[in-house]
Amino acid sequence: MASLEERRNAEWARIRGRLRAEFGDGVFRSWLRPLTLMAVDDTKITLCVPTRFVRDRVNTLYGDRLRALWRLEDCDVGAIDFVVEPESAGRKPSLIAPPLAEIMLANDDSWSDGVASPTDPNLSFDNFVVGKPNEFAYAACIRAAETEKPAFNPLFLYGGVGLGKTHLMHATAAAMRQNFPEKRVLYLTAEKFLYQFIRALRAQETVAFKELFRSVDVLLVDDVQFLCGRDATQEEFFHTFNALVDQGRQVIVSADTSPSDMDGLEERVRSRLGWGLVVELNPTNYELRLAILESRAAELGFDIDPKVLEFVAQRIATNVRELEGALNRLAAYAQLGGRTITLESAHDALRDLLRASERRVSIEDIQKQVAEHFNMRLADMSSPRRARAVARPRQVAMYLAKHLTSRSLPEIGRKFGGRDHTTVMHAIRKIDELSAADAGLAEDIRLIRRVLES
Ligand code: ADP
Ligand code: MG
Repeated sequence: MASLEERRNAEWARIRGRLRAEFGDGVFRSWLRPLTLMAVDDTKITLCVPTRFVRDRVNTLYGDRLRALWRLEDCDVGAIDFVVEPESAGRKPSLIAPPLAEIMLANDDSWSDGVASPTDPNLSFDNFVVGKPNEFAYAACIRAAETEKPAFNPLFLYGGVGLGKTHLMHATAAAMRQNFPEKRVLYLTAEKFLYQFIRALRAQETVAFKELFRSVDVLLVDDVQFLCGRDATQEEFFHTFNALVDQGRQVIVSADTSPSDMDGLEERVRSRLGWGLVVELNPTNYELRLAILESRAAELGFDIDPKVLEFVAQRIATNVRELEGALNRLAAYAQLGGRTITLESAHDALRDLLRASERRVSIEDIQKQVAEHFNMRLADMSSPRRARAVARPRQVAMYLAKHLTSRSLPEIGRKFGGRDHTTVMHAIRKIDELSAADAGLAEDIRLIRRVLES
């Protein structure tokens, strides 16, 4: 049996959905959304409003409708009181503010407000350039977006940074919404999933959380490697995932490594993630880079010598984001300088990027440099010793490996004496934390970095 609070809570959520439908989004946002359910009893509802002005306005304009709606829900409700929220310090939290339940029950297209991550309309299939390295991933996403029943479930996309995972996820979500307007398509990052989950736990809304996630037709979760080592969230994700796949709803996830390489994951989660179709976004090749540059230049209306594009495609052999950065920079130079870009001026403008791309820092370089800096034996980078004097520099080296190379966490762990991926993650967090508080350590890191990048 639901408690009175829970019942009132659900009623309030439905009423808010209706108010929004009746008065429109604008009115709802300005006047009605700020109301929170403050206290309940059998016959009276107390709503909290932020200011007296809002109270008066809401009471005059929407008070009658509110009372009527509430009586429709529950004929015992005789009165609605408005109280003005006490000024900041003494602010009493609303008794039960159920954002998730409210979102779920709202009977308009706002059901995923606040839960979803925004999708960027500029990331579409149309402007995704297809080449050998990504054609399979592209085809899989197109297929997923066009078919009513999932052909493969889950669809697991993986690949290094800046190779187009997020672009494909956004494009797929948008195409699905267009092809199947009645479907509930929810896109969010794993980070956002974690955040929502923690918030639901705190607010004791886990039931609403579960219901919301289990009510979608298509769930897209970006960067699931973020859940590695976070056991409770991983567990929750796993249940959601299973529930959806079992009911034949499409699940699409992306990560920076394949399921088999994600070793901060529980075995059953990992194997289940690999059940559907696993496709890789491979590092770009010259042809793809050139095609992307051409397409992007055309988009920018940037009339550039093809020789310069070829040069950039040859020399910047890293991810697409960097490639685009290089082109944007050239476009800015051309515009500011008011002249056409030549091979020579491109060289000048991109000097730092070219250098970074030429000289890839290896994990071995990092280990050597860090060991030297802290005066420890190189062998201790991979030894099991845990004394602070070796453990801390080792953590610094892991941290730098993450930031200066494109290696995945499991790969980094392997280079440090076969350590687990969660150990690497812990090291990165630790150094992040410490270097924020400890100027000496921050300076050490800056110095080592400078040597490595010089
Ligand atoms: P990831 O999520 O894999 O790190 P993104 O999807 O964020 O990478 O891609 C980085 C940038 O490169 C984005 O601006 C994206 O639009 C662009 N990009 C990546 N691959 C392609 C492609 N094949 N065609 C066009 N743009 C691409
Ligand atoms: Mg991404």
